[in-house]
Amino acid sequence: MSAVLRVMAANGSFSEPTRVSWASGRFAFEEAAGAEASAEAGAEIGAEAGAAAPHADAGWIIPGLVDAHVHAAWHAFDAADREILDADPEVKHERTATALANTLRAGFTSVRDAGGLTLAGCDRISAENRPRVGLSVALIGRAEADAAGGLDRAVDAVLEAGATWVKLVATAGVAAPPRTTLESHFSAAEFASAVARADAVGAGVMVHAWGGAAIDHAIAAGAASIEHGIYLTPAQARRAADAGTTFVPTLRIYRLVQQMISAGHLPAAFADRVDDAVAHHPGAVRIARDHGVAIALGTDYGTSAQHGTNRLEFDALVDAGLTPREALVAATTAGADLLARAQQQGAPREAVPTGGITAGAVADAVLLRRDPRERGALSDPESIVGVLLGGRWIDPAPPSAAPPAPRTPRTPSQTSQLTPSPTPQQTSPVQAPAPREDHP
Ligand SMILES: [Zn+2]
Repeated sequence: MSAVLRVMAANGSFSEPTRVSWASGRFAFEEAAGAEASAEAGAEIGAEAGAAAPHADAGWIIPGLVDAHVHAAWHAFDAADREILDADPEVKHERTATALANTLRAGFTSVRDAGGLTLAGCDRISAENRPRVGLSVALIGRAEADAAGGLDRAVDAVLEAGATWVKLVATAGVAAPPRTTLESHFSAAEFASAVARADAVGAGVMVHAWGGAAIDHAIAAGAASIEHGIYLTPAQARRAADAGTTFVPTLRIYRLVQQMISAGHLPAAFADRVDDAVAHHPGAVRIARDHGVAIALGTDYGTSAQHGTNRLEFDALVDAGLTPREALVAATTAGADLLARAQQQGAPREAVPTGGITAGAVADAVLLRRDPRERGALSDPESIVGVLLGGRWIDPAPPSAAPPAPRTPRTPSQTSQLTPSPTPQQTSPVQAPAPREDHP
């Protein structure tokens, strides 16, 4: 197939309309090909011409979107609710498959699961119906490390379970009591050892850290990314830039938590912490940008209603102060570069393409009717023409399947939006239990 498109470069700029072709899973630019190669590519394009036509001429094409922080196997915010929802493994599998399919149809051709999705759970879903997935399998906090007999053992356990990413939860999160400090849950030596163990098998380390010494330790140890990083300081940003640490802010999830509190579905005791997080997080994004830290888009989504609305995080990055061009880089090439750092055993289970839209690169991309730099265009469900996953055309999710989540409080409740609700008791409002984990 081919189409005349404005092509996004790695730095977020766009070309003049250019004929872009893809065949056998890869991009081929006619201008760049020799006469013989052109004829060959033409034959391949002809062979695939029976597939749906893109109807994208004169539109825009960007590399496949990347969500560097998602929980695809989570379908409720609270761990206790998840346990109820997940009681039937088949229902959980169906929900997870739907979540990943909606995420792919929203333009996300690669995701990094930050905990919850297992290797077996991922492998049950055909790679044709989901993004490429980096796996961390389980979150490792202080309690998990202690239960395993130390952080090293907990790290080894997730690596043996097929993790390509080690997810460390190194500070408290939103559900911690008010005035909880930013104390690091792991020492500098523990961080160093965890990164070394992950490195030895080509896995990466991603660190949930709101701020404080956990960020210092993660950067010094060579962790690949800092998640959330709400209280990132300029000095830390300077070191992160020098060390090549990627920053993965998750702006929107905290606003969704605020909405769940307003609606009475999460304890009001969380309000002070989450309000402070919402107030400080955009500043951390600007600090990271101003100091040259690579920023990747992450949603931290973990409910059925959220999966598939991931493009709204792009708007949140722009609202925080990134230019649309910077946000496009965060949502595409920076995320791909981050995910490509995990190359388990030297041979990645699911290689994430980093070539962007260049001749010979794997054809992961999103075709758009509207200029994605225009406010609201990328998150507009109507603006996506189609998604390419390894050159295979995927129709975008219809607006009804992935509605833009409202900016007004969700009603009647986050939990009641879970679909389908398998038993009557799950359709009733949550009794506002305190989540047993402290996430995000
Ligand atoms: Zn998370």
